[in-house]
Amino acid sequence: MADIIQLLPDHVANQIAAGEVVQRPASVVKELLENAIDAGADTIKLIIKDAGKTLVQVIDNGKGMSTTDARLSFERHATSKIRSAEDLFQLHTKGFRGEALASIAAIAHVELKTKQESDDVGNVLVIEGSNITSQDIVVTPTGTSVSVKNLFFNIPARRNFLKSDTVELRHIIDEFHRVALAHPGISFALYNNGSESFNLPISNYRQRIVNIFGAKTNEKLVPVEEDTEVLNISGFVGKPEFAKKTRGEQYFFVNDRFIKSAYLNHAIASAFEGLLKTGTHASYFLNLTVDPQTIDINIHPTKTEIKFDDEHTLYALLRSAVKHSLGQFNIAPVLDFERDPNLDTPYSYKKNETSVPKVEVDRSFNPFQEEKISKPRVANYKKEPTESWESLYVGLESKGNHSKQEFSAITFESEERTASIFDDDKQVEKTHTTYQLHNKYIVSTIKSGMMVIDQHRAHQRVLYEDFLKNLTIKEAASQQLLFPLQLHFSPQDIVIINQLKVDLEHTGFVFSSVMEELVEITGVPVGVPESEVSIILEQLVSDVENEVPESHFSASDLLAKSMAKSLAIKTGQSLQKDEQEHLVNKLFACKEPNVSPTNRTTFITMSVDELDKKFI
Ligand code: ADP
Ligand code: MG
Repeated sequence: MADIIQLLPDHVANQIAAGEVVQRPASVVKELLENAIDAGADTIKLIIKDAGKTLVQVIDNGKGMSTTDARLSFERHATSKIRSAEDLFQLHTKGFRGEALASIAAIAHVELKTKQESDDVGNVLVIEGSNITSQDIVVTPTGTSVSVKNLFFNIPARRNFLKSDTVELRHIIDEFHRVALAHPGISFALYNNGSESFNLPISNYRQRIVNIFGAKTNEKLVPVEEDTEVLNISGFVGKPEFAKKTRGEQYFFVNDRFIKSAYLNHAIASAFEGLLKTGTHASYFLNLTVDPQTIDINIHPTKTEIKFDDEHTLYALLRSAVKHSLGQFNIAPVLDFERDPNLDTPYSYKKNETSVPKVEVDRSFNPFQEEKISKPRVANYKKEPTESWESLYVGLESKGNHSKQEFSAITFESEERTASIFDDDKQVEKTHTTYQLHNKYIVSTIKSGMMVIDQHRAHQRVLYEDFLKNLTIKEAASQQLLFPLQLHFSPQDIVIINQLKVDLEHTGFVFSSVMEELVEITGVPVGVPESEVSIILEQLVSDVENEVPESHFSASDLLAKSMAKSLAIKTGQSLQKDEQEHLVNKLFACKEPNVSPTNRTTFITMSVDELDKKFI
């Protein structure tokens, strides 16, 4: 029998390795930025076109490469950073595998320009799918520029697998933030499709955070400093009252490398115990410095997990350092004492009591009535909401008939209407009653037996269909605010809001301006309480950020889902009888009453037969 084993050609081996190293444009961003940092640059520019699908370019003013090194840098396992296995335990560089450039060059069109300080001219190399197609002398500043074009040009399957530009850009910005946060001593700029998105001058750590996350961040930061023999901690945690619903602003850096650690995250969460509203997460930006010998980062090229020798000690130190800071800055004054249990009211409850009194405005009286009418798309407010829950429906009452006529002829549905699940039998109709169970379920009788409805999910369904319809017909009623609402957002949140602006306007939002870190709103969808607006938008931004990568991106669907989620009555909210019935009616007027917008069951039924069986 002939021998059948062969060594794979280099370009095939490189493509296989590339599968590990480069998952998406953001992976290229990370590798190139890290190379620039390892090269000792203090000014780094990142240029992105079409979310990195067309171009990722990094320009640095680092030490550059010699003619031979420029060529060698694209060979697999070619690195200047380690010489032996022992060096792995003394890493002071980001890179060490010598795989990144070789991998990237296997699956993209790469142009490298580089020059060392001592040389007059530099080199320019063009590599396409692992082949060097040209090498020339070029006049170029000291440092290196790597352009990566047409990523995955030779692997169409991978290219098709990439997500929408919004999602890919989000990943790129995340990587950019991580690297920029870890290196405030380096100036970074990010240009996206020709315009400058970030320009971060050399600064201290606090300024770097503020430059990235917006001026408002400054007042939220509490410094954390701790110097021990095994570990040095420095950085900031966010004050509890600014905790966010999302985990977005949580950053650990170990020896200047971004890492994820559920375990250490838990240490912070436990330091904040009792200080956070439920469902919110503290922000943190913490740098841990440890002896490189005590960690193992050599797990996987793209993984952000690392192994620590002594995690338990780290946990304890981190927790106490954060607790200490919160205490010192008078955020948790009683932390170090035995607590009087009577004082231990949940934070959210205490906060409720001290919240600014709500000003109820009689919306039917408006001194600016004239003006209001002249505004386009601002509907007149028909009826004063009587109950807060009820009010969610005001103005949204017109229900598209669930037959075909949907958007052309909008019919008004009478309150009495019940869906087919309720029998027409008059007797049942009359005696039909609802009960609320544990402020969570609505129990109702139906002819065949009983029905149990999850109030939160049911209401989500109702609101979702309403919003979706408004988004499609683009004529949602808007309620004008007496005073414009100003909301602060970080620059990257603004990017998202700008993308969704048109859709948001279709639901009834009116934006008077969207600036770098500030959004001014003069109108909100009818029935949306003013106090909820910031929560809705924050939730929306986080939903877009965390969009399940598998799902197809549809802005209006996401928007409708997100708003429904924010506005739906919650579990734990008690409902009046008529509110309960109203919800049931609304639910069964929906097109898909049996599932929530996220496909969860909204109600179950139990027939008398089934009940009978239980009584055997
Ligand atoms: P690694 O970073 O793991 O060494 P890479 O494939 O990323 O592997 O880079 C290979 C080598 O190319 C590096 O070790 C370094 O010597 C050189 N190199 C890459 N990028 C730069 C840069 N921006 N400036 C100077 N040298 C660079
Ligand atoms: Mg590298």
